[in-house]
Amino acid sequence: MTPERQVQVDLEAIRHNVRRIAQIVSPAQVMAVVKADGYGHGMIPVAQAALQAGANWLGVARVSQALTLREAGIEAPLLAWLHTPATDFAAAVEQDVDLGVSGWELDHIVAAAREQQRPARVHLKIDTGLGRNGSPAARWDSLVGEALEYQDEGLLRVVGLFSHLAVADEPQREETDAQLQRFREAVALAEDAGVDVEVRHLANTPAIFSRPDTHFDLVRAGVGIYGLSPFAGQTSEELGLRPAMTLKALVAHCKEVPAGQGVSYGLKYYTKEPSTLALVPLGYGDGVPRSGTGAPVRIAGGVYPVVGTIAMDQLVVDLGGRLPEGESVLGAEAVLFGAADDGDPSVDLWAAAAGTINYEIVTRVASSVERVYLNEQPTEDVQ
Ligand SMILES: *Cc1c(COP(=O)(O)O)cnc(C)c1O
Repeated sequence: MTPERQVQVDLEAIRHNVRRIAQIVSPAQVMAVVKADGYGHGMIPVAQAALQAGANWLGVARVSQALTLREAGIEAPLLAWLHTPATDFAAAVEQDVDLGVSGWELDHIVAAAREQQRPARVHLKIDTGLGRNGSPAARWDSLVGEALEYQDEGLLRVVGLFSHLAVADEPQREETDAQLQRFREAVALAEDAGVDVEVRHLANTPAIFSRPDTHFDLVRAGVGIYGLSPFAGQTSEELGLRPAMTLKALVAHCKEVPAGQGVSYGLKYYTKEPSTLALVPLGYGDGVPRSGTGAPVRIAGGVYPVVGTIAMDQLVVDLGGRLPEGESVLGAEAVLFGAADDGDPSVDLWAAAAGTINYEIVTRVASSVERVYLNEQPTEDVQ
């Protein structure tokens, strides 16, 4: 039986996107970013597909996510960059999880390395302008100095230097130049102090496509490996990417209604003419944005708008007229979004309707919706 509701994830699309990015950034390496359960696609299957397609590294926000990847048997280099004093640094060191370090973490990590009698692997992070994690420029010198001392004691190895960009999705903005300049200075300072790293990394997906001068030794590719465009004015297809996620459900009810039929809570929509309404069993409880009214849904070959307020478990689509006598779309597939080249609505249209970005639409699809994987085995050769 077809599942009533499902997220279909095409792992061949993920592999295609990783290969595409690897080709663009070569000879730089690719870190596939699989935080937030692989942007909602499923962390482990995405990580495995990305590695099959030539990604060399995996990146996550939290150590707990990295440990889940290790438990799944994944041995690739793995970086986690968002910690709190409650983070299990000892487990990270034990499991060879590389740790991003902005400052305060260093002492915790060194304590974990002493406990594990094993050197930690760290990537020092400089804040070049994003204002989130990363050492302030004024503290960089001393952070590098402390890390080198611990390295000399055999307690850690400085494997990488990195930073994160704030506006690379708006390529005309000049702040990226300033961030790049500050990163170069921070790298030069560390290298002059005697740091000898494996990887310097700065680029996210938008910088992969728009700023070759940010690629360094490694790029951190998130949204692009899922086949989505980080740019407001460019589609996946224009970037040579294939969206991997399709969200769909079977129509739960189909009925003819007269003109003037009110629809859903608040009665914010009334049919203008006699019409047919299709009820789709997905709502904000499943991560479909409540603000997505007006977004497209594909049913039985046609594309129709969501009308009225999106509810917790369900939403209504107006098919815009009467179906031929005796016909119904009950049980038909209703596709909210998928790969546009198959005729499915794009994630970008849902993001526009909901006033958000494509990242949020895919990431928020709840785990209550079953993930079904297509092409689990590679169909093309890994280069
Ligand atoms: C999420 C994240 C990325 C990936 O960003 P995309 O725009 O999705 O490619 C890269 N680096 C860091 C530090 C991140 O938090």
